[in-house]
Amino acid sequence: MQTPKKIAIVGSGLVGSLLAIYLKKAGHTVHIYDRSPDIRQIQFSGRSINLAMSNRGWKALDGVGVGDAVREIAIPMDKRAIHLVDDLKFQNYGQEGECIYSISRGTLNRKMIDLAEEAGADFFFEQKIWDVTLTTATLHIGETERGAWEERQYDLVFGADGAFSRIRHRMQRQSMFNYSQEFLNIGYKELNIPANADGSHKLDKNSFHIWPRGEYMLIALSNLDGSFTCTLFMPFEGENSFASLNDRKEVEAFFEKNFPDSVEVIPNLAEDFFKNPTSTLVTMKCYPWTYTDKIALIGDACHAIVPFYGQGMNAGFEDITVLNEMILKYGDDWERVFSEYQKSRKPNADAIAELSYRNFVEMGTKTADDKFLLQKKIEKWFSDKHPDKWIPLYSRVTFSDRPYVEALALGDFQNAIMEKVLKMDNIETIWDSAAVENKILELLQSQ
Ligand SMILES: Cc1cc2nc3c(=O)[nH]c(=O)nc-3n(C[C@H](O)[C@H](O)[C@H](O)COP(=O)(O)OP(=O)(O)OC[C@H]3O[C@@H](n4cnc5c(N)ncnc54)[C@H](O)[C@@H]3O)c2cc1C
Repeated sequence: MQTPKKIAIVGSGLVGSLLAIYLKKAGHTVHIYDRSPDIRQIQFSGRSINLAMSNRGWKALDGVGVGDAVREIAIPMDKRAIHLVDDLKFQNYGQEGECIYSISRGTLNRKMIDLAEEAGADFFFEQKIWDVTLTTATLHIGETERGAWEERQYDLVFGADGAFSRIRHRMQRQSMFNYSQEFLNIGYKELNIPANADGSHKLDKNSFHIWPRGEYMLIALSNLDGSFTCTLFMPFEGENSFASLNDRKEVEAFFEKNFPDSVEVIPNLAEDFFKNPTSTLVTMKCYPWTYTDKIALIGDACHAIVPFYGQGMNAGFEDITVLNEMILKYGDDWERVFSEYQKSRKPNADAIAELSYRNFVEMGTKTADDKFLLQKKIEKWFSDKHPDKWIPLYSRVTFSDRPYVEALALGDFQNAIMEKVLKMDNIETIWDSAAVENKILELLQSQ
């Protein structure tokens, strides 16, 4: 058991509120600050985005006994529903019983705040943190950046304030602080498929619906009330882009042509399209994540990634699992807790950033590439035959809690094998032959 401390968490998002539960259960006083109003009191729409929760997220929730409360608001998805322009195909995610879970971000965040409050954490909403004094863990709070600020001193401060963190902002001004940020040329917009009149879902609720079209795509995840939250990912500029869709007619014609089966289920397409904001996607990396025994960054505040692996929140929750392991190991030695936490997490955060970015590149440039499609077909065929010898990369990331660095290494290893296999003579015709099977088995052995 640790000596009780007075701890501030900046950010009552998903990561901040789960961290609060862990720290409360460890016996600390926990104050959480958020610049926004209490989301339990406001309408949350237009940028709510549904999240896919997978193993790493559940492990962190179960680790503090709140997994079952969250399962009540989650819908299992055991397969992808792939909407082609003229066909609909289903593809199971993993082995029998393996699912990811659709959860509305707003509903989950409200639930997490309720759970953190029940655990005894104190929330302070509409409190903007502008700065922190690193050496004394003092927060500077005020209405405006240039107005009067109040000071609140703590023993420790956690920055769980997201991709544009003010806590990180202060840490960035130290020497030897590394930082990079890269925006994609793809943005996203939320749309909505309402429930049927009887409250049922218009599409299969246990599927992750995807309309892949190379450079742009639409996805839809089910909600408990019978609706689906859709996200349209598309370049900002160019032929098929947000910039090319300027009025109702253009939007409707674009959807009719490219996502024909979505049109009848999205009744307010044009209204939503022009009402809802177009948001950006960023990869942000930095290091170090901690300052002495006083300050630590966690979640998107230290590793924002693009969403194409559905792992941002899962990775943030896994930060908490690892931080907690260090707390159990090093107790009151917070400096050691922090330094072991960041050493353990940084390579894994970089690995999932890389995997997520690769998925984005694959979607944009490779889905129309015949060699790439052949590679995926061979991998699936071989993995079905030898499930113990070829774990699909997606499964390693999503259905296990082995470190992300291992998944990245596995992906590289599998790609190196497939590069050799694709060079075999007449691979297009012999792809499912004994010769290919033996070649892969041999290459797997040679490592
Ligand atoms: C389109 C999209 C789809 C995604 N899909 C998935 C998915 O399927 N699965 C998945 O695991 N992840 C997904 N993610 C990633 C996931 O949303 C994030 O990783 C996660 O929300 C990060 O949580 P967080 O608590 O670290 O930060 P945030 O959710 O950004 O919360 C930060 C909080 O800090 C507060 N704050 C910020 N600055 C201040 C300040 N100065 N003072 C006080 N308060 C402040 C904010 O108001 C906010 O409440 C997706 C992300 C996007 C954009």
